[in-house]
Amino acid sequence: MISVEEALAKVLSYVHILETEEKYVLDCLGQVLAEDIYSALDIPPADNTAMDGYAVRAEDTRGSSEKSPRFLRVVGTVPAGYITEHEVELGTAIRIMTGAVIPQGADSIVRFEDTDEEQRQGSVSEIGILKEVKPGADIRRAGEDITRGSLVLSKGTVIRPSEAGILASLGRNKVKVIRRPVVAILATGDELVDITQPLLPGKIYNSNTYSVAALVKRYGGIPQILGIAQDNESSLVTKLRQGLDADLFITTGGVSMGDYDMIKDVLATEGEIAFWTVRMKPGKPLAFGTLKTVDERGNPRSIPQLGLPGNPVSSMVTFELFARPAILKMMGKRNLEKPTIEAVVEDRVVNTDGRRVFARAMVEKRRGKYFARLTGPQGSGILTSMSLANGLVIVPEDKPSVEAGEKVKVIMLDWNEE
Ligand code: AMP
Ligand code: MG
Repeated sequence: MISVEEALAKVLSYVHILETEEKYVLDCLGQVLAEDIYSALDIPPADNTAMDGYAVRAEDTRGSSEKSPRFLRVVGTVPAGYITEHEVELGTAIRIMTGAVIPQGADSIVRFEDTDEEQRQGSVSEIGILKEVKPGADIRRAGEDITRGSLVLSKGTVIRPSEAGILASLGRNKVKVIRRPVVAILATGDELVDITQPLLPGKIYNSNTYSVAALVKRYGGIPQILGIAQDNESSLVTKLRQGLDADLFITTGGVSMGDYDMIKDVLATEGEIAFWTVRMKPGKPLAFGTLKTVDERGNPRSIPQLGLPGNPVSSMVTFELFARPAILKMMGKRNLEKPTIEAVVEDRVVNTDGRRVFARAMVEKRRGKYFARLTGPQGSGILTSMSLANGLVIVPEDKPSVEAGEKVKVIMLDWNEE
């Protein structure tokens, strides 16, 4: 049986960064930029005001205070989006709104609250300045965010909301990114019924397809749902062949020791097995290999296939540990690891047979420290234990147990922002 690290290294050695595509920015959130983005513009394009107020010459405000205001003649008003033809000369001011370009002649802004505007009615032809300002006060300089010609976003950057905003501020609506992987998902089991069908005696609904497809989406892939294969070779082979255009093939179930666990046999005939069984709990019967096919030119091609165990918790945990990094690698991401923290475990966790245990836990921060509490019974069929959890407490393979109060490592599945 290989270790989690060996299994992950093997999986990653079979997946490669995908090709690039050009897409609308809002369609590539979470994708990796495949081009360097240089700016053809200064951002902001011109000096403009950071505040609503009056554009003035700083020397005109010298010595002014609430007790002895200096009075300036108002020669115009300029809202954001317009350029005034008026100039600020000594003794004059222009009323100006946030974002408007600084008028000729002005070198600073006096905010509304530092003038006597509130006491004046109607349109203002003269304004009292209640405070001295320095040259440059409340002026945002052209190019202070981005200078023309500079490298703004480099290849390899992940597109997040702030990158979407930056690209828009440069006038870009499409960018080149590494494409999302298509992940074929096939559930196996004679007991499974699709959620659109009535549930007959002896049957259960196929839930793995949905948890796995949701994980694929969460991490940026495109799920290709192939439905359910029966536990016989011909049904499996037929269904497998429907997903051979995918970048990664995920099956669930059929990898244990049971009479009808056929995935390994089918993998062996339709491709090659790279490993079977990993020293972990849940998830031991994980199988990995490649399926052989041909590409559109008729050249042989093989696609990586992860045979996740059928138990709903096992399939999700093995997905997080192996399928997620594979998807992220294909997308060109460099950080393939989930955040891991150290926490004080509040329950005893036992490790009966020398495998690495991933126990479902809820992590909470109290008085600046993380505490991890198990989310009830840990059977690998108890999917609610995942739903209640935000992390996986790790018990190393060489430790027979961790006791309440001990420090443990926890892989954070999410920070429960929702
Ligand atoms: P297997 O790995 O095929 O032996 O399945 C292990 C356990 O997981 C069995 O109790 C199955 O009924 C259950 N199981 C397998 N596939 C699914 C699925 N797609 N949805 C829900 N439960 C499943
Ligand atoms: Mg089965």
